[in-house]
Amino acid sequence: MVLDNLGSSLRGSLDKLSGKSRVSEDDIEEIVKEIQRSLLQADVDVSLVMELSDSIKTRALEEEPPGGTTARDHVLSIVYEELVDLVGESTDIPLENQTILLAGLQGSGKTTTAAKMAWWFSKKGLRPAVIQTDTFRPGAYDQAKEMCSRAEVDFYGNPDNDDPVDIARKGLEETADADIHIVDTAGRHALEDDLIAEIEEIEAEVDPDRNLLVLDAAIGQGAKDQAKQFDKSIGINGVVITKLDGTAKGGGALTAVNETDSSIAFLGSGETVQDVERFEPNSFISRLLG
Ligand code: GDP
Repeated sequence: MVLDNLGSSLRGSLDKLSGKSRVSEDDIEEIVKEIQRSLLQADVDVSLVMELSDSIKTRALEEEPPGGTTARDHVLSIVYEELVDLVGESTDIPLENQTILLAGLQGSGKTTTAAKMAWWFSKKGLRPAVIQTDTFRPGAYDQAKEMCSRAEVDFYGNPDNDDPVDIARKGLEETADADIHIVDTAGRHALEDDLIAEIEEIEAEVDPDRNLLVLDAAIGQGAKDQAKQFDKSIGINGVVITKLDGTAKGGGALTAVNETDSSIAFLGSGETVQDVERFEPNSFISRLLG
């Protein structure tokens, strides 16, 4: 079994293939319908779902099962491969010195993610520092400071300075001993021009190794515009999906992955610094289908 959790209806449809040596168009149609239902419910964009459906149908009907493979297992492995292709592999995050810039709208979970990622790097034996450049949201400084103290990682911010670029520059100087610099940025409620201008200036100052877009799991199709804008202005190398402990399954974030030609780096599943994991295709697919 390649997937832990297929969802009971999909499993039922696949199990109908047991004992068959060939699959019919009707068999595949039923399986594809089950997958479509789950993915659309999980907020995956309809055009991505249609692409996946077409690939599964074509391959399941045209490819010969390798010798000794049952029709059921053959279809299951095609479904699995196509789902992995849909969600992508995890963003490469080497365990070495680097600067990571976080982008996203207000409330997406950037500040929380900065502290969580710092905690994650510290558990890998590296020395991270979080630099808080959000001068826009009241409370962002205190929140970041408090979370970094809980994560026991270095922190730089200055509530008396209202120039985010200056904070970024000083932050990098003050935390020069750290291996990993995670730069948190301000969000806005929408993609306003001043938000984009500000993050472009911070990015020019900081010269990050990777820019991650932080998205709330409930984002739905709003992910597309955000991904496009941030990608155009600073370039997006990976996505973080937050709040996966809620009911939303985060399928909308795949639109951002597709739009930026990137991949998913981390998942957030709670409000404490430990509630973070690296993206892993299998469990994410199980979550989408389950
Ligand atoms: P920012 O404006 O992008 O910096 O967002 P914050 O980091 O302040 O997060 C906004 C709210 O979402 C806060 O109340 C966080 O505690 C909460 N939050 C962030 N990540 C998660 C998560 O993975 N799960 C849950 N349940 N809440 C989260």
